[in-house]
Amino acid sequence: MSDDNNCCFCNGRLIVISGPSGAGKDTIVNSLLLKDERFSLSVSATTRAPRPGEKDGVNYYYVNVGEFEKMIKDGEFIEYTKYGSSYYGTLKSDVKKRINNGKIVVLVIEVQGAENVRKIFPDCLSIFIMPPSFEILEQRLRDRCSENEDEIKKRLKIAKTEVEKRFEYDIVVENDILDETVKNVHNKILEKLDLT
Ligand code: 5GP
Repeated sequence: MSDDNNCCFCNGRLIVISGPSGAGKDTIVNSLLLKDERFSLSVSATTRAPRPGEKDGVNYYYVNVGEFEKMIKDGEFIEYTKYGSSYYGTLKSDVKKRINNGKIVVLVIEVQGAENVRKIFPDCLSIFIMPPSFEILEQRLRDRCSENEDEIKKRLKIAKTEVEKRFEYDIVVENDILDETVKNVHNKILEKLDLT
């Protein structure tokens, strides 16, 4: 790794959050960010289309496949993966900028990406968000009306393999009642990172 890629700049300042699509990761993380300004959310690049209300540079950097593949070639990602029908990748520049601003950076990424990040940053804190059941997960995915039937089926299939990996994470939290989950996740982060 070149100096620019050196992972040491992240030591102890990285939180990785995974869980099946529809488990509530984004909602939990948004509440955490409002609760504690020491955290900052990494904005990934993706080739999927923005959902209604999503904004470029806020939710993701939206790029086309050609642009994403050039970014891979140029070494712009800490990790990247194909999930469902789209590419997603964690940007070195975005994470570095937040770390340099003194923040603890939160990555909300799927399990393969999390595995890769844990290899590069062994002292990151990893958290897996479990849905209360697969039935509730399916219901939540359908209720948000953002994916078509084919994509929902793909996501439910991926969810089964993701849940099997939960024991690879430092912390596993079930998201049943949102407010309690947020408190629980926040307390566990404070304890593990020795923050007051
Ligand atoms: P969504 O399309 O629902 O926004 O995201 C689909 C999945 O991709 C989610 O599990 C989300 O956490 C994950 N994801 C988002 N950004 C990244 C990334 O940069 N890298 C990886 N590996 N997964 C990501």
